[in-house]
Amino acid sequence: MSDTGLVWFRKDLRLGDNPAWSAATARHEHVVALFVLDPNLYLPGTPRSNHLLHTLRALDEDLTDRGGRLLIRTGPPPRAVAAEAAARSVAGVYWNRDVSPYSVKRDEAVETELSEPPTTWYGALVHPPGTVLTQEGEPYKVFTPFYRRWAETARDEWPEPGQAELADDPGEGIPDATAAPVIEAGESAAHRRLAAFEDRVGDYPEERDRPDLDTTSRLSIDLKYGTLSPRTVADSLTAPAAAPFVRQLAWRDFYAHVMHAFPHTLDHAMRPEYDRVAWLEDPEGLAAWQAGQTGYPIVDAGMRQLAGEGWMHNRVRMITASFLVKDLLIDWRHGERHFRRLLLDGDVPQNVGNWQWVAGTGADAAPYFRIFNPVTQSQKYDPDGEYIRRWVPELQQLPADHIHAPWEVGPLDLAAAGVTLGEDYPTPLVDHSMARERTLAAYKKARGES
Ligand code: FAD
Repeated sequence: MSDTGLVWFRKDLRLGDNPAWSAATARHEHVVALFVLDPNLYLPGTPRSNHLLHTLRALDEDLTDRGGRLLIRTGPPPRAVAAEAAARSVAGVYWNRDVSPYSVKRDEAVETELSEPPTTWYGALVHPPGTVLTQEGEPYKVFTPFYRRWAETARDEWPEPGQAELADDPGEGIPDATAAPVIEAGESAAHRRLAAFEDRVGDYPEERDRPDLDTTSRLSIDLKYGTLSPRTVADSLTAPAAAPFVRQLAWRDFYAHVMHAFPHTLDHAMRPEYDRVAWLEDPEGLAAWQAGQTGYPIVDAGMRQLAGEGWMHNRVRMITASFLVKDLLIDWRHGERHFRRLLLDGDVPQNVGNWQWVAGTGADAAPYFRIFNPVTQSQKYDPDGEYIRRWVPELQQLPADHIHAPWEVGPLDLAAAGVTLGEDYPTPLVDHSMARERTLAAYKKARGES
């Protein structure tokens, strides 16, 4: 038998600190690096698929530097992976697992096609699911005790890479990207971003909630595609000021563990009573929210940033999501799908976990009766209105004390800023106080309290 190992790359598009890659290159003389363009996930022309293609190209360049190529195949993975393994008589197949229900099912189907079980890790997480458990051996549903246990849990050991000779067959080759990358793709660029963030992590604890200052790491896209390992990120940021940042990485593991343990939460409330909320069917409200035309400037700024950049600041993700669910009383699943379609970091466990947090339906979620006021949130986190001005240019001339709620501004001040409400910028889609009462009533009814 030839001594060839095959690594099936998925959301781990890096060569450094990648346990599947390290194990294969250490154990075999020859290694094939395979990526399968799965028609269920690769949707040409979408921002995420475009970024994927740029990232694959960067990985291919890194492999070329080592004498190999990234082998590209298109088709359903069970057939593609097994066909490649059989054609090359490989002695071992390696990959990093994922936790979304789709990937779990897909991997099971691939495994049944292989003649030998694969060797797998969870290279996208700090700790694999099922290794951070309560005293009773149950998965956590509350973050803070999960975090304590997560921080004290010893990491499973990842192998050191070896010197295998790499296959230099590009297969079908990487399709041409349809647009320039939104951020520079690939592992080297990701390491540069990480190094730049190390220099400014001291600002993170104070400023992380300020979309106008924009001082968060923006590493979510690298973590999504696996151009950085979360262990590398956590280990690079050890200064005391980095502790709140590392805690956010634990939230990432938490939502992955929750999705793994409770896969029904993909499209059902974690707490079943909340599947009974009588959501409104409101296609116009949904469309106005998606288009950034709700009349609430902070909400519109966020939705326009999402459409423009494929990214949105975390605080504004919370505000816009809360507006959809708690002000418009629209089912969180509509919002989750929209975010997933547009976010470059769009990732099933993270997106679902956070949407259920905002909706109050998920693990360790915000209580259902805590309803963000979009105006006070805006005043607190974008105090000068700079973030709003960046994304809602029609309100450019409004001063800081008027920009958060233009409908409360007198006609003379509006005219001085060149704004006619209902023409240049919408009047509010809904009255927040009325919406708040409506939502509280709907949630109470779902809980059987009225
Ligand atoms: P930083 O503040 O620099 O945080 C560092 C890293 O920690 C992030 O890159 C991310 O991996 C992790 N992290 C931070 N906050 C969270 C969080 N609340 N939950 C889980 N992990 C977190 N994040 C995604 O990666 N993919 C998604 O699809 C996604 N959807 C979201 C939907 C909603 C409604 C909300 C409220 C949040 C969502 N998040 C999602 C979490 C968070 O908003 C982003 O991870 C963060 O804004 C990314 O920016 P950053 O890398 O600069 O974050």
